[in-house]
Amino acid sequence: MHLACLKCTSILDKARIEDVEVDHCPACGGLWLDHGEIERISRKMVSEIDRLRRLLQPSGGPPAVPSEIQTSCPACTGEMKEVTLGTIRIDFCSRCKGFFLDRGEIDGAIAAVQGQKMTVAQIVAAAANEVPS
Ligand SMILES: [Zn+2]
Ligand SMILES: [Zn+2]
Repeated sequence: MHLACLKCTSILDKARIEDVEVDHCPACGGLWLDHGEIERISRKMVSEIDRLRRLLQPSGGPPAVPSEIQTSCPACTGEMKEVTLGTIRIDFCSRCKGFFLDRGEIDGAIAAVQGQKMTVAQIVAAAANEVPS
């Protein structure tokens, strides 16, 4: 199954980082990660993470546009919410726990989970509880 990019609606390409299959946008350099994938990627060799970074250099096409353009999850059609993950803001699906990274956000996402015992879903839930709504 090929997903549509959250930001520019291009069809996402699939790539493998060792045993992790990721969906990346060839146009805007965005990245879709299913639940648990960033935690696995963050434990990969530096050379593999470098390969992923290079993959996310866009080859042209429409620039990234604000996330408001699409609010439903490309994987499960659940509602996407903008949430805080460490130092970055990500588009996160509370139903399937997948999320979308804009170009340049991969390092922030890896830094947020590296050396952590919590998953992205747990970090997001913890951050949401700290901010009274
Ligand atoms: Zn895109
Ligand atoms: Zn979803």
